[in-house]
Amino acid sequence: MNMRLAIQNRKYATEISSDNDGETVCIAGWVHEKRDLGGVFFLIVRDFGGFAQVTLHKHKGSVEQELFARVKKVPRESVVAIEGKVKSESKAPNGYEIIPDQMEVLSEASQVLPLDTTEKVGAELDTRLDARFMDLRIERTKQIFIIRSRVLKAIREFLDERGFIEINTPKIVSAATEGGTALFPISYFEREAFLNQSPQLYKQMLMASGFDRVYEIAPIFRAEEHDTTKHLNEATSMDIEVAFVSDKEVMKILEELIAFVYSKVRGYPGLAKLNLKLEVPKIPLRRITYEEAIEAISEAGEDIEWGEDLGTSAERTLGAMIGELYFITDWPCAIKPFYAQPADAEAKSKDTCNAFDLMHPRVELASGSQRVHSYELLKQNIESKGLSADSFEFYLDTFRFGMPPHAGWGLGIDRLLMSMLEIENIREVVLFPRDRRRLAP
Ligand code: ATP
Ligand code: MG
Repeated sequence: MNMRLAIQNRKYATEISSDNDGETVCIAGWVHEKRDLGGVFFLIVRDFGGFAQVTLHKHKGSVEQELFARVKKVPRESVVAIEGKVKSESKAPNGYEIIPDQMEVLSEASQVLPLDTTEKVGAELDTRLDARFMDLRIERTKQIFIIRSRVLKAIREFLDERGFIEINTPKIVSAATEGGTALFPISYFEREAFLNQSPQLYKQMLMASGFDRVYEIAPIFRAEEHDTTKHLNEATSMDIEVAFVSDKEVMKILEELIAFVYSKVRGYPGLAKLNLKLEVPKIPLRRITYEEAIEAISEAGEDIEWGEDLGTSAERTLGAMIGELYFITDWPCAIKPFYAQPADAEAKSKDTCNAFDLMHPRVELASGSQRVHSYELLKQNIESKGLSADSFEFYLDTFRFGMPPHAGWGLGIDRLLMSMLEIENIREVVLFPRDRRRLAP
């Protein structure tokens, strides 16, 4: 690239202040707005950090007149680099303006833009997602993804401190985690394979390897034809698996993790862009049993019977009554996966297992359980769910040569983000969402 300006030495708009008065600086970014006020012309340049005001006085010397002639023609959202002198100006963003000496247009934008980055004209979510690269130039959208990055960092910090190791398990697999209906088949040379719907089987297998505490943050693929504001066909899940503990211990890890993440994000100034004041959830979170849950839902007038899963409406009814994060425990075995450990015979009122869901008043955030670690029981459970033990051989085998008791959970990162940030549609918190209709961008 042949450039006159030293853009490699550029400063972010937020790195400059009135303290730099009189200094020559180089800034580079997108043309956010152009304001012609007669005698003066303001060019607002946007970069990753924020905004800088470039001020041109039309009547002054020939340099500025020449520059003005060029600046006024540059289409909005073009990428420019500007060199000029900093001048203290209390009315401008960050308390300064730049009086330009030179400008270079690095990339000229087309005149008609797919979105208005100044947010003066709003757009439907679909339109925004179609032009996501440009939607991300909008401050509010950008902040969602900065917060998402902070959430992921906080999760890693929390788990690393507790002695977890981060793992990567395959996303191309031969067998379903919980039966075949919700899988995307792919062709794998001469065989059929699937995109993995959960790292469940693999993280459990690592318990037999003696890894003790593992976590993974990775995509999960669900082929259900959902068309809701809380389901995607590709989501990000964070999973943990821990050996020598029960469901009770991993529930504690989960609530402590959530509180830690909230407390880490709470002080972030970008939250203001979302008009949010995060309250760190008080732990321990409330725990109710499945039985208490369906009683409360029936009392609220909804039809629900023992053994039924909670649909969206039941979840919302219950969530409205409880009004904060909570756990539902002691689920019927029939509606939990084959790997959930049945409750001790003397403890169970009905046929329940040591499984739990972490719920936000609006949406399920996580599911977990103590796992079956007996080979015989696991094989029996797989078959009683109508699945073939043969296709689970690689998994079942690991239970025959020394498998400790263990427990774990899977938490939807996208669901965590949408609930934390009080965002209605899960698509908003995913860069390039995949749903029933959307495969591009
Ligand atoms: P739901 O009943 O809400 O559809 P699920 O019980 O089928 O969820 P699990 O298999 O328990 O989901 O997956 C663990 C977590 O992964 C869920 O609690 C949720 O946070 C997230 N998750 C699962 N499926 C999806 C999806 N299609 N889109 C977004 N997140 C998902
Ligand atoms: Mg679940």
